[in-house]
Amino acid sequence: MVLKSRYSFEIPPVSLPTFVFGSPTLELPTTPAFISAREPEKHTLSIYQCRLYAQRLASGLLRSGLQPGDRVLVYSGNTLFFPTVVFGVIMAGGVFTGANPTYVARELAYQLRDSGARYLICAEGSLETGLTAANEVGLNTDQIFIFDDGIATFEGRTVSKQTPDGEIRHWTTLLDSEEKGRAFHWEDLKTDEELGRVITLNYSSGTTGVAKGVMITHKNYVANSMQQMHISKQHPDYAAKVKRQRLLCFLPMYHAMAQAIFCVNAMVLRLPVYMMPKFDFLEMLQCVQKFRITDLTLVPPVVVAMAKHPATKKFDLSSVESVGSGAAPLGREVCEEFEKLWPDGRVNVKQGWGMTEATCAVTTFHPANKSLSFSVGELLSNCEAKVVLDDEGKVEAPQGERGEIWVRGPNVMKGYWKKPEATKETLTVDGWLKTGDVAYVDKDNNFFIVDRKKELIKVKGLQVAPAELEALLLEHPDVQDAAVIGVTNNGEELPRAYIVPQLPDRATPEVAEGIKKWLAERVSKAKRLEGGVHFIDAIPKNPSGKILRKQLREKAALEDTKA
Ligand code: AMP
Repeated sequence: MVLKSRYSFEIPPVSLPTFVFGSPTLELPTTPAFISAREPEKHTLSIYQCRLYAQRLASGLLRSGLQPGDRVLVYSGNTLFFPTVVFGVIMAGGVFTGANPTYVARELAYQLRDSGARYLICAEGSLETGLTAANEVGLNTDQIFIFDDGIATFEGRTVSKQTPDGEIRHWTTLLDSEEKGRAFHWEDLKTDEELGRVITLNYSSGTTGVAKGVMITHKNYVANSMQQMHISKQHPDYAAKVKRQRLLCFLPMYHAMAQAIFCVNAMVLRLPVYMMPKFDFLEMLQCVQKFRITDLTLVPPVVVAMAKHPATKKFDLSSVESVGSGAAPLGREVCEEFEKLWPDGRVNVKQGWGMTEATCAVTTFHPANKSLSFSVGELLSNCEAKVVLDDEGKVEAPQGERGEIWVRGPNVMKGYWKKPEATKETLTVDGWLKTGDVAYVDKDNNFFIVDRKKELIKVKGLQVAPAELEALLLEHPDVQDAAVIGVTNNGEELPRAYIVPQLPDRATPEVAEGIKKWLAERVSKAKRLEGGVHFIDAIPKNPSGKILRKQLREKAALEDTKA
């Protein structure tokens, strides 16, 4: 049976900038919308300033030759100006793509090449890596811009930097004057074709293979934001709550989750967001206390850390009212431990589930109900889902039984960037997104995510694609064949490699350690083989050569119980 959300409404036919800012000239609040968590008195941006900077950037990008659909890659941690750049690129008719700021040069070069980025806006502290990657793909120095932490921009330290490759300009050199910015009106889009234009490429490996650019459109963003805000508004005390809400952003803005929640929803609702450049556990707790944060958007490792770490109890967290978690599975027991931090029973962890391919969210727990399980809640408005038992989606699981969850709705991506085959494998002709997640639905239509059919491994909420690691491992002289799976250690997922050695006598602990180290030098932290390197006689595969990961996962579970 196809399940339909109990809510449905019209999604307004407007572009994302119009949805967020109303129009290029609408009077907007000048109160702080984005506030630096490190310099809250000095460095803030109102939504009015955010629009004006974005208009100045859009005007400047067009002056510099940006063509419609050109990709601009941002390689940076969070800064006050991150949302501005996202909107500036979109207002100019370009496509924003954000790279994980912990990427090594090889990973960044992959995304630059795959997206065909015309410009790279690179964090000041990562310039060396940025330049190495840019050299590899043939970007010139005049296509690279420095992105500071926002503070230098405020203080006018904004010229350029000499590097061995030449002079690299600061991103603010792209900004046109305030006057030109005010005069810049983004295109007024209305038709289906116009609203279906791609505005971001968020990278995700999907159900199989390496990272791919997920094409998200104006319509996708507007729809998913409306869907998420609509469910938030079901909170019994919503009208009063929205007036006192204060958010804290430490999740990375290159990822769909932070983009949707902090760049789009928060701005539409005019909620103040305290911005941390990146996650730091103690700094996060200090910020909650200092800024009297009301709503926390967390990922499971942070919930676990807060529940277990003795330092948590040293902070005054009494301002917190709502806590959401997503991006990876989270058990109910740990939520209960976490909720005890508020002895009056006020905090109830509500989980949501989604994926980059669905803009951000698909389900969320209803704010009026108390979550007593690990359910990820109900379908967001305008969404449909079915739980299927076969690859064609023809055999549906009876209610309460597990199967792969397929989703359809206005938030589902347009497809993968320049990957028609992968798109065909993931999106059916009638619009179903095959999520690769295994779930069941209870009698109240609440979803429970119980497993993953796809290869994807999630380390601290970050995507790790086994195919990427396997391809790298095959370059190692001791590796004849390799398969990577996720193993669970203390509730956390970690990548583990099974290796067939070139020579049997090389299957030693020293060689295993050497392979682990070798890989660690070539990948960002989340992709390191912290789940171990194990030798095996042969990788189990089906007749067409597909790795039988389920068999490996069973083997791993057996090995780990014995250990
Ligand atoms: P991403 O595209 O990086 O957001 O990753 C999406 C994937 O993360 C989903 O397909 C799931 O496998 C996993 N995921 C997201 N939210 C949850 C959740 N609440 N519980 C379990 N898995 C989740």
